Amino acid sequence: MVSPVTRRVGVLTSGGDAQGMNAAVRAVARAGIRFGAEVFAIHEGYQGAVDGGDGISALGWEDVGGIQHRGGTVIGTARCAAFRERAGRKQAAYHLAAQGIDRLVVVGGDGSLTGANLLSTEWPQFLAELAADGVLPADIVATHPTLHIAGIVGSIDNDMVGTDMTIGTDSAMHRIVEALDAISSTAASHQRTFVVEVMGRRCGYLALTAAIAGGADFALIPEAPPGDGWEEELCESLRRARERGRRESIVVVAEGARDRSGEPITADRICAVLEERLGEQARVTILGHVQRGGSPSAFDRSMATMMGYDAVDQVLTAGPNDGAQLVGVHRNRVRRVPLMRAVQENQAVARMVDEGHYEQALAARGDSYADLFGLLRALSHPRTTLPADPKRIAVLHAGGLAPGMNAAVRAVTLLGSDAGHEILGVDGGFTGLCDGRLRTLTPRDVDGWAGLGGAELGSRRGVLAPEQLYAVARAVDTHRIDALLVVGGLDGYESAQRIVRERGRYPSLDIPVVCVPATIDNNLPGTELTVGADTALNAIVEAIDRIKQSALAAHRCFVIEVMGRECGYLTLMSALSAGAERAYLPEDDLTLTDLAADVRSMTQRFRDGHGLFLAIRAEGAHPYYTTDVLARIFEAEADDLYDVRQAVLGHVQQGGNPSPFDRVLAARLAADAVAAVSAALGAGRSDAVAIGLDNGEIARTPLRRVDDLVDWARRRPRDQWWLRLRRVMRDLAEPAVGTRHTP
Ligand code: ADP
Repeated sequence: MVSPVTRRVGVLTSGGDAQGMNAAVRAVARAGIRFGAEVFAIHEGYQGAVDGGDGISALGWEDVGGIQHRGGTVIGTARCAAFRERAGRKQAAYHLAAQGIDRLVVVGGDGSLTGANLLSTEWPQFLAELAADGVLPADIVATHPTLHIAGIVGSIDNDMVGTDMTIGTDSAMHRIVEALDAISSTAASHQRTFVVEVMGRRCGYLALTAAIAGGADFALIPEAPPGDGWEEELCESLRRARERGRRESIVVVAEGARDRSGEPITADRICAVLEERLGEQARVTILGHVQRGGSPSAFDRSMATMMGYDAVDQVLTAGPNDGAQLVGVHRNRVRRVPLMRAVQENQAVARMVDEGHYEQALAARGDSYADLFGLLRALSHPRTTLPADPKRIAVLHAGGLAPGMNAAVRAVTLLGSDAGHEILGVDGGFTGLCDGRLRTLTPRDVDGWAGLGGAELGSRRGVLAPEQLYAVARAVDTHRIDALLVVGGLDGYESAQRIVRERGRYPSLDIPVVCVPATIDNNLPGTELTVGADTALNAIVEAIDRIKQSALAAHRCFVIEVMGRECGYLTLMSALSAGAERAYLPEDDLTLTDLAADVRSMTQRFRDGHGLFLAIRAEGAHPYYTTDVLARIFEAEADDLYDVRQAVLGHVQQGGNPSPFDRVLAARLAADAVAAVSAALGAGRSDAVAIGLDNGEIARTPLRRVDDLVDWARRRPRDQWWLRLRRVMRDLAEPAVGTRHTP
């Protein structure tokens, strides 16, 4: 019989599968064990609970090792018709209670979470009936009065109220944007129109963000049916795109898109419109299940990990009256909301869409969703004729290369032109500005830049030297520059600060100066994320996946060095996503005592039969304990138990096409940069600000505040939000003996 003090947690994945579910299962299992509970997998969704027997099995620490990189879910998912019936749910309650499982983490969509909520409501009644029938002993009923539930949304559609993102959405975006990139290259060589259908029956998030990231011309989504005459609007928009030199045209349509009278707008219907009005044969691509496939993105792995960790904490600490909770993310932080409320609100939004209350539905999805809709419109319909005497905005890069720099310049050009400004691209950063290497950028010039890696304008490391300020001032005069936009890293911020400080000496520098954060290091003030960091993380995580695979047969320790200088963001997040055993961060002062402890636990792990030990080290983690030194220390202590290899990932982290997230972030930040410049120019002010993301919202920080926010000696922000995730990473990395969860 189960001891009443042993807390038992079940975890199941249900409904449609989504990439990242495995990371959630791993986090639930490991955090549960670490917190002193026993964890059980319920296989094939609710079916495992309904069937009992092999449908429920214990999950050990090692059972969930090395599963994060896999798509789908290792514990299976299914749709279970029996669970929709009371009798089926009662059967499930019986099997769970008989095993002493009265805490459940459910990873699934709207339907699965509705089912979870129902089961937790019915639980006391079911148990009373089962006891009365003599099927369950009375002591089990007495010791498990409540079924504690935490729900995590696994759904690639991002269609749940109560969380900003759902597991699988970011990975699905990767698949869609890869397809859009591939399609644009063939479309561009033939001058064709492609209509791409993506998932999203009631939520157009995928269609909207993919259209922004993929540089598409038009998106049709369920919550915003186009008004009458949309056919002409669509054709007009494609015609105008052609006139400004676009060779390819892409229309993205969500599978649930419809018109104002509720008639579905299918890909075929769009093709018919294009053929009839433009005489053009468009090609249709329906992406279908490709969107659920492939390895989960770095974001889906880390977010699912955080959610799983929090969900298990929730079910283990819940009081009898807390009710089922939904564990989601809001503004970049894990947040719990009552599951019942979230499910009801979600169903209300679905009804709004079904009943045609579109504006309400759009508003219910939140402000940033409506903003994205506006952003796509502005990006795809730029005004191409400028006023007679436009303001001239120069845009340049500074600092190391960051994927997404081109996407930012593209957005600045399109949105800036639309606002009636002339955009001057500066080649070669501040040096290029001093040398007068400027060219006017038109929408035609930046066509195709949304997904382009590298930086077409070129970037340079290094801060503007005091002796260059005169040349900058002269360039501002000569080229009649009205405002300066710096898309780059800390070097750019420092240079911008110098420009602002020297306004007294050089009055021509008294112009608006706006910084847009772009660096893979994520070490900038006034923003929780920078353009480029997500792409770098994905590159790192993919590389680590490969490295791990190469070592499957051997007993091996890998020491992997990642970039980030003196900021450990990439190190910690990649360790969290890839499931590393150790992360050496510049923020932690590593000592020889720590290293000795690490060697001891590493040796013990190999003695216990563990095959792989993964240590990720930030390039700036320690001046003396370099990657090579760490590897040698580990090797010296290996005692034939294991061997050690080091891998310095190097510049693969800065290369590659920007991730969907970085492209959308670049566009959002650039939009606000243009708005900030326009506002300042309109009011005759010379504002100097940095644009950033604060709690998920676009925010501006005055450049004069930067000194308060940055630790210049270490070249990173004084306050780094992600450091709190160190605990999650450590808790899931290695089993601890005798650790008990203290609520
Ligand atoms: P998703 O969770 O992805 O929305 P479904 O709606 O198909 O997918 O739900 C998955 C499973 O969750 C169903 O097969 C069923 O077992 C359970 N479920 C869904 N809706 C309910 C409901 N209203 N009551 C009880 N169980 C439900």
